[in-house]
Amino acid sequence: MTATVIDGKALANQIKEELAQRIQTLKNKGVIPALTVILVGDDPASAVYVNSKHNTFTQLGLKSDVLRFPAETSQEELLAKIRELNNDKTLHGILVQLPLPKHIDTNTVIDTISPEKDVDGFHVSNAGALMTGNPRFIPCTPYGVIKMLESQNVNLKGAEAVVVGASNIVGKPMALLLQKEGATVTICNSKTKDLTSHTKRADILVVATGRPEMVTGDMIKPGAVVIDVGINRGADGKLKGDVEYASAAQVASAITPVPGGVGPMTIVMLLVNTIEAAERA
Ligand code: NDP
Repeated sequence: MTATVIDGKALANQIKEELAQRIQTLKNKGVIPALTVILVGDDPASAVYVNSKHNTFTQLGLKSDVLRFPAETSQEELLAKIRELNNDKTLHGILVQLPLPKHIDTNTVIDTISPEKDVDGFHVSNAGALMTGNPRFIPCTPYGVIKMLESQNVNLKGAEAVVVGASNIVGKPMALLLQKEGATVTICNSKTKDLTSHTKRADILVVATGRPEMVTGDMIKPGAVVIDVGINRGADGKLKGDVEYASAAQVASAITPVPGGVGPMTIVMLLVNTIEAAERA
């Protein structure tokens, strides 16, 4: 079997086209959806993500500002800037690019963003809203994954879904969304014993560990749908997923590539959340 490739880039482009009408309706009312991204320090991967978010927004005629702070910026300085942005009525979305330098407490920073502008969906109240079944902003990466599964007409009701990785930004919200759609969900982490016994059961396998190519074809149930969230830059400069694509594609029925899979979907779901924030405001 050779798996169907789930083309995240093509799906992201299709969603962008569908958003054009909503953007126009807002513009007709004099509203231009506006996002401000805060980048602290000089992590090269973060700089790439921030640029690509900025370019996507400006290409569609939305407003995007990037505020760059040096790595030694104090937490208080950062919080003061966020409070100022919270009060800016022309701004609909605020995003703090993670990871932050070690001297800054990520949760404190995220929870200082107004929940109405938290387009990443990481604020504790937005995480709670997702958990209790009435999401306001769904974190972009798992939201994009759900859209990819929908595009393939994957039946989630009663399906065995396994999420490898349990972070607040990917694994946990991913598991909640799959569960909301009726899947039976297992969440694995770095302490999971006999990982393969879990991954092998999965009709839908989502991998988000940051461990390059750790899931191989022999760990996958024949016919499974495999979603590779990982983005790892190899020594050769090439991007690799958390799944070993060549062996996995021999076993899976459908699989996302890296690059061109979940990455472009994450950015387009940020657009969706920002447009929604502008519509609500
Ligand atoms: P984190 O480092 O925050 O979390 C990794 C998770 O994976 C943890 O829960 C950890 O377990 C678990 N884990 C690590 N090693 C193993 C292992 N050997 N077996 C099972 N579980 C393991 O990472 P993120 O969730 O932020 O990101 C994960 C990956 O997704 C990265 O490659 C990142 O670059 C990528 N990413 C891609 C995005 C996209 O747009 N495509 C967006 C965001 C992230 P424990 O809890 O025990 O520590």
